[in-house]
Order: sequence, then C-alpha cells, then structure tokens
Amino acid sequence: MPKERLYLFDTTLRDGAQTNGVDFTLHDKMAIAGMLDDLGIDYVEGGYPGANPTDTKLFSEDRKLSTTFTAFGMTRRPGRSTSNDPGLVALLDAKADAICFVAKSWDYHVRVALQTTEEENLASIRDSVKAAKATGREVLLDCEHFFDGYKANPDYALACAKAAYEAGARWVVLCDTNGGTLPHEVETIVGAVVKHIPGEHVGIHAHNDTEQAVANSFAAVRAGARQIQGTLNGLGERCGNANLVSIIPTLKLKPDYADRFEIGVSDEKLQSLTHVSRALDELLNRAPNRHAPYVGDSAFATKAGIHASAIVKELEGDLASAEHVPENGNRREPARAKSYEHVAPESIGNRRKLLVSDQAGRANVLAELERIGIKVDKDDPRITRLLEEVKNREAMGYAYESADASFDVLARRMMGQVPDFFFVERFDVNVEHRINAKGERIAVSSAVVKVKIGEETLISAGEGNGPVNALDVALRKDLGKYQRYIEKLELTDYRVRILNAGTEAVTRVLIESEDENGDHWATIGVSPNIIDASFQALMDSIVYKLVKSGAPA
Ligand SMILES: [Zn+2]
Repeated sequence: MPKERLYLFDTTLRDGAQTNGVDFTLHDKMAIAGMLDDLGIDYVEGGYPGANPTDTKLFSEDRKLSTTFTAFGMTRRPGRSTSNDPGLVALLDAKADAICFVAKSWDYHVRVALQTTEEENLASIRDSVKAAKATGREVLLDCEHFFDGYKANPDYALACAKAAYEAGARWVVLCDTNGGTLPHEVETIVGAVVKHIPGEHVGIHAHNDTEQAVANSFAAVRAGARQIQGTLNGLGERCGNANLVSIIPTLKLKPDYADRFEIGVSDEKLQSLTHVSRALDELLNRAPNRHAPYVGDSAFATKAGIHASAIVKELEGDLASAEHVPENGNRREPARAKSYEHVAPESIGNRRKLLVSDQAGRANVLAELERIGIKVDKDDPRITRLLEEVKNREAMGYAYESADASFDVLARRMMGQVPDFFFVERFDVNVEHRINAKGERIAVSSAVVKVKIGEETLISAGEGNGPVNALDVALRKDLGKYQRYIEKLELTDYRVRILNAGTEAVTRVLIESEDENGDHWATIGVSPNIIDASFQALMDSIVYKLVKSGAPA
C-alpha cells in the first residue's frame, strides 16, 4: 500500500527564537537552516522579515537550500488594502519560497485585540493569501488560538480556516497557541475541520504547556492533519513547541506511523538526529538534556546489573547471526537489544551506554572508526587504548559527539596515522591594558609562537582583539610548507563553557572551522586555562585540515 506523505515544518528560527535567552545571530540562523535542510525537513520558517534586523537580513540573502524556506508575518491590517500595508509589502518582498501568515481565528480576539469586525478579519485573510499567491509563492495560514477559538465559536474559527483555504492557501495550520488543549480535544476538533478542508491541507502547531505538544501533534495526524509544525529540542517560549526531535523518530521507527506515512527524513539522515539535537544545544551554549527521549545521553543507558549483561548477550547473538532479519521487513535494522530498548539507538545516531562492561564502548569506537574510514581489526589492542583515552577525556569534560574532528585526530593519532607535521615548542600570550594617546583605556592582545617544522624553527607574532584571536593569528601566520593547506581555513565559531568537574571548574572550548570546499568541522579543548583549551582546539583544527588535505609528513 502506498504511504501517505506527511510534511514537517520547522519553526526553531521563528517561534523557537521567542525563547527567553535565545538570540540567534545571522550566522546561527544560517547554520541551523542548513542543518534542518540536510536532515530533510520540508519547510524551514526562517523568521519574521521586517520585525528585526537579523530576520530582514536573512530574507535579503540568497540561500542554497532545498527546503521550502518560509517567511512569517501578519495578514494585512484591518481597514487597509494589501498594497497599502508596509508590513505586508515588506513580507512579500522577502526572498522566501513560501509565506506563512498568522491570523486570529477566535472571535473574541478579533473583537478585543484586533478591534475589528469578524467579516473584516475574514477579508484580511482572503486578501493576504491572494496577494501572496499572486507573487507565485506557496502560502500557509497559521490560525492563532484555533482550538480555544473553536471551543468558543466553532463556526467562526472554521470560517477563518476556510477563508484561507478557499483563497488558495496550500496549508491551513491549526495552532494551539497557549498550549492548553488536550490530545482528545485536538483529535475531535481536527476531525471536525477535515470534514471541511481536506486533511492534506491541514497542519498542526502545538505548544507544550501541558507537556503534550508531541501527543497533540500525533492526535492531529490521527484525525487527518498532514503537516506537523515544531522545533528542534522543543525550543519555544514558555514550555516550548512540539519537539520535532521526538516526533521524527516516532514517525520513522514506530510501525503505527512508519507503515502508513512517509516523511522527508531518510533512514540515513535519521542517524544524524542526535548530532543535530546536540549541535543546537552547543549553539545555544546549553548542556544537552541527558534524559531527552531518543537522543539524550541517558536515553539508552542501562545501569549495571542483570539488564546490562543481558543486553550484551543479546547483542553478541545479534552480531553473530550473519542474517539479521529486520522486524518490519523493509528496513535493515541495526543490532538492538530488543528486550530492553524500544528502538535501536544507532537508528537515531545515539549510543547505547552499558555501564557494566566495555563491550558496548568497544562497539561504539569500532563504529566510529569505520565511519571516519579507519580500517582496523576488531581485536586490535589499540581499540582498548583509544576507548580508555576517550573515557578519561570525557571524564575531564571533553565531549566528542560535538567535536567530530577532534575525535578523528585522536583516533588517527592512536592508530599511528597522523604524521608529526609540526611541533609548537612554546607560545606566549600577552594582554596589555593601558591608556592610549586619546586617554581611552584599551586592551591589546599579542601572541608569539615558536614552531618546529622538521629541522626548521619558525617564530611568528600576531595581534588580535583578544588573546585567543592573537594566538590563532600567530599560529596560522607561518606554518612553512604547510601554510598553503591552511591558507583558506576559517574559524566560523568559537564557544566557551565553564564546566564544574568536581571541585574545580574547567573551561571547554569548541571551535568550528570551515575550509575552501565549504566543509565544516568542530574541535574541542578542555583545560582549567581558557587559552590552553583554545590552543588545543585550534591545533586539532589545523591538524585535521592537514590530514584531510593529505599534507605530506
Ligand atoms: Zn507558536
């Protein structure tokens, strides 16, 4: 039986950006949009052009994304024509593939908040949808407070939704804006709506105020809605939005949904979900939720005891049987300790954590080595050493799941595959505070690096807007014969987090780099000293680039 297509709409960059303490830069927004696009999300709502300079800039730039990049904004104001509403005109000028309008659908709000008539609100919906459609864009309409509106006045709420659909909106999105609706109510109300608007044009936008945004999204799908809106990690104001990071694997891995529906996220991309979730946390400089369903560090952790050893036995059995029959017949499933885990952690890129034995750790390390293209015999003693090293470092605060390139360098080094390209004999960083000629207090940072390359010793100095920047400038100023490989290396992000490891605080530095091919990688450094932590991350980035470019020893 052919599967029905279900569409995913991400609003991390718009609704998610409403979260307290979240302030995405343009670079953050582009990075997140890129991640969502790569994951296979159908729609990425980038923001509200005209509402703030970042979003206006975002929608004035060309992007190379295959997702439907969507701009959000209001329908025309009451009493104005579409061409005489500057907000709407700016929205239609945005470089966006789709326009998502928001409109009131609760009669009470129309009267009190909009201070207009019910009919004028309907006319505003119709006119705005038509105006956006006339520009050749796909149009969506978010019906704000739809469920509360429906409970108060079903005819009017429905009239708003129908006005948008009949004017040509591709999607009418039913929003549980204050997040108080319960799943059985959502199912009933969506069921009533799809009698008037075909389900393949109906979307659900749920907030998490009763911790049921995910359940409400599924309730809507069961009732016929075919678009789910949500955010990465459930980011969003108050208690958040529906969490796509929980919704996606449920759609992909639970037969009730997987057998009926198809989404834009492939099985392969599903394996990057844990990484995507943690990458967002890193960007927000937050510690990932260890207990997050599917992707949390503890989601597949089993405490020492009979469970853990039973899982090991099952896994050994699984790995030993050459012909592993997938449960659902059409998908090859990774080995899974079936009796204790509801899905295979690898399918979402997470890891099993068995706190009783090293075997799972070994399997993880082996899988990682295979992923980065290092062939090694599974009984190679170096694997045990690498595993020990990773464990020790993780205890110190390293987090290799967010620093793939540092893991790569560490693994290759332990496998004897990293040449001694260069050796930093010493470096000096100086921060000077002084009063300049204009009488202003200024801080000047400088660094001197002494590098040995073969028999040659090079000394470089650099200045920067801070000590780490100065060190980076000095380090990359002259690497002799390796200079040409790192010429186009750019640091695109630098983040610092103070970790409390026992009694002492340590600093974790994460650096993101990019090269001339547009490849990105992340490296990490941990030390009580921020300069030293930064130095480690910088070194890893340079060494990774040299290895990747095949630079000779
Ligand atoms: Zn919302």
